[in-house]
Amino acid sequence: MTLRIGHGLDAHRLVEGRPLMLGCVHVPHDRGLAGHSDGDALAHALCDALLGAAGLRDMGHHFPSSEPRWLGTSGAEFLRAVAAMVRERGLRLVSSQVVAVAEQPRLGAHVDAMALACAAALGVDRALLQVTATSADGLGFAGRGEGIAASAVALLDQTR
Ligand code: MG
Repeated sequence: MTLRIGHGLDAHRLVEGRPLMLGCVHVPHDRGLAGHSDGDALAHALCDALLGAAGLRDMGHHFPSSEPRWLGTSGAEFLRAVAAMVRERGLRLVSSQVVAVAEQPRLGAHVDAMALACAAALGVDRALLQVTATSADGLGFAGRGEGIAASAVALLDQTR
């Protein structure tokens, strides 16, 4: 077994007038994540972990926010595209975890739905993906509720 590990990190600003899309699900909140895409920091962190493990650089390389065609792209669409690239290189997901950092809203009630939705977008068994959430004890931009951050790790196996 040839294993490869990747790590992804992302953060987006919380702003009024946008739906909060996180982990490929809609989370009810009075603000949403800003971005050229839908701002799904959790999906983006997971994409970067997968791309990193595959040696395929990062989202900024493949989906630059300077390009109009990625405007409003959902996290699920990015995950589908990244999963296809990973499979094309003969790599298979072994295990992954994403941690979201948010003060508000509390995400604990949504993590299972996020894992299910992200796994579906990737086309993998839900058991291969764990989503957890933490607050930041009032510290930093996440703690002040200015944005949401996410960190992800992914372990891939080279199958050919
Ligand atoms: Mg992002």
